[in-house]
Amino acid sequence: MFKRILIANRGEIALRIIRACRELDISPVCVYSQADRDGPWLESADQSVCIGPAASKDSYLRIDRIIAAAEVMHADAIHPGYGFLSENSHFAEVCRDSGFEFVGPSPEAMCALGDKVNCKRLARKAGTPVFPGTEGGIEDLDEAVQSAREIGFPVIVKAAGGGGGRGMRIARDEASLLDGIASARQEAAAAFGNPMVFVEKYLEHARHFEVQVIGDKHGNAVHLYERDCSSQRRHQKLIEEAPAPGVLQKNRDRVCESAAELIRQAKYAGAATCEFLMDHKQNFYMLEVNTRVQVEHPITEAITGVDIVKTGIRVAAGEPLPMKQSDIRVNGHAIELRINAEDPARNFMPQAGRIETFVVPGGPGIRMDTHARAGYTIPTHYDSMIGKLIVHAPDRATCIKRCLTAMSEFKIGPMRSTMPLYSRLLQEKSFIDASHDIKWVERLLESDRAKK
Ligand code: ADP
Repeated sequence: MFKRILIANRGEIALRIIRACRELDISPVCVYSQADRDGPWLESADQSVCIGPAASKDSYLRIDRIIAAAEVMHADAIHPGYGFLSENSHFAEVCRDSGFEFVGPSPEAMCALGDKVNCKRLARKAGTPVFPGTEGGIEDLDEAVQSAREIGFPVIVKAAGGGGGRGMRIARDEASLLDGIASARQEAAAAFGNPMVFVEKYLEHARHFEVQVIGDKHGNAVHLYERDCSSQRRHQKLIEEAPAPGVLQKNRDRVCESAAELIRQAKYAGAATCEFLMDHKQNFYMLEVNTRVQVEHPITEAITGVDIVKTGIRVAAGEPLPMKQSDIRVNGHAIELRINAEDPARNFMPQAGRIETFVVPGGPGIRMDTHARAGYTIPTHYDSMIGKLIVHAPDRATCIKRCLTAMSEFKIGPMRSTMPLYSRLLQEKSFIDASHDIKWVERLLESDRAKK
């Protein structure tokens, strides 16, 4: 097992990894930017070094400085967390070449699954359901038009190297398809250095269904069932739950097993998430594979009892997975609410500044993952998530009630957070009866604006 892990991240995820390290008797060490000098999570680390100014490109994205810090602090492994360099295969390779174990997949497996065209090809082989669409990248426009006709409009043009919702265009006819291909290519070349785009069916009404999977270096892989993340705004998840409500057991088993098979075939070691869209007939179509731990991993931990972060560290150290598929059972229901320092009443304006009041809820089934506290000043340079409330209960109805009580106990000031919005969302009929889809929050906010 590792003796010392360097955490190349910040905030609540750094704290989450520090806690996992402690339970495994590993010494956690951190890097931080000048803006995070007073980051409360640094107090829990054994040692930390400043690696540069506030801007991520000058600190958390500086591979050379992170490697130097790992050398100086005598780490034997590097954990990327999520965001920043977590899906950068070059970083994973530099870690390996510099003699540090990267807590995550090999650069080869990351590349194979990170490229959307290649990932789709592997998924077809593994029997993981994907959208109908072009086989690979688009070579010529006639072929693209031909396949769009076969699939049927609307279709979506997407970048092979895409991420963060960029390089995508929806096309409802042939003219907009040709425009879409040209502009998506340009955007993709500029953003990802790879102009390759492909076309697939566009699904109008869908739910976001994602499968947590984890593999080891000995060819084993299991799934930890799924999460439903259909409550989003601008492709950002706000509320996640596990398991996905209303999905038939046989459909769930089939898609979850196919996701585990995909990472087994990709010889993938570590935690990953296969993201799908699900239509109202419970057909599944894979969107992409995220080759890292996700923000919403705790709800899966709550319902399965598996510590995903600790298991990820164990498999990176070469241990076999400590469980078989048949050992994994779903227990109850869990919901995660992302606490963003944003004001939902003022178009989600980011809220910076010093936190004066911070009251954390408690009681059975309540877990709060946060690095914030009273006296902490939220820097403006990073994303606005300051914590996550994870609520576990025997069933979904109790879980929703428990969330409402916990939210009423939670207090932050003087800034606003997204919590008041969630109290309302959890009481909406379409959420309660699970007839919602990935656009439901935006439709609701839109109708609020129209009423004003
Ligand atoms: P990124 O890597 O940029 O996040 P994804 O492939 O995950 O790209 O897609 C981002 C979002 O775009 C999805 O969550 C979904 O809302 C929408 N989307 C992508 N592909 C489709 C599709 N074929 N049909 C409908 N919506 C889609």
